[in-house]
Amino acid sequence: MAYDDENIFAKILRGEIPCDKVYEDDHALAFNDISPQRPVHVLVIPKGRYVDADDFAANASDAEIAGLFRAVGEVAKKTDVAKDGYRILSNIGAHGHQEVPHFHIHVFGGADTGPMIKRQE
Ligand code: AMP
Repeated sequence: MAYDDENIFAKILRGEIPCDKVYEDDHALAFNDISPQRPVHVLVIPKGRYVDADDFAANASDAEIAGLFRAVGEVAKKTDVAKDGYRILSNIGAHGHQEVPHFHIHVFGGADTGPMIKRQE
């Protein structure tokens, strides 16, 4: 899938719409999810134009990949979720129910995040 420069996270990166920033460095931006599903729900996104985790793994530089995961660690520190544990998650494509086509990692914490996924029989 080609990258869509009009997706909402691209607009946030360009400063066209605001976000509630948690952390930023050269490679990544992290901000609170607009519709939080746990007391801590932060989205960590790369600054580069990557559609999803699949695109990121194939095409991002080593520095971008390291930078994004370091940023997740910084978010965990800033939000103080590590002591009780937290969850990181990334939805990819249709089966993953990805809504925004700019790669992002959800960081959930501040309360029990529940079972990983509901089993489908
Ligand atoms: P996903 O289904 O993994 O693509 O998740 C997209 C996430 O982006 C959802 O949790 C939304 O609540 C969140 N979201 C959508 N628009 C915004 C926004 N403007 N600021 C912050 N979070 C947003």
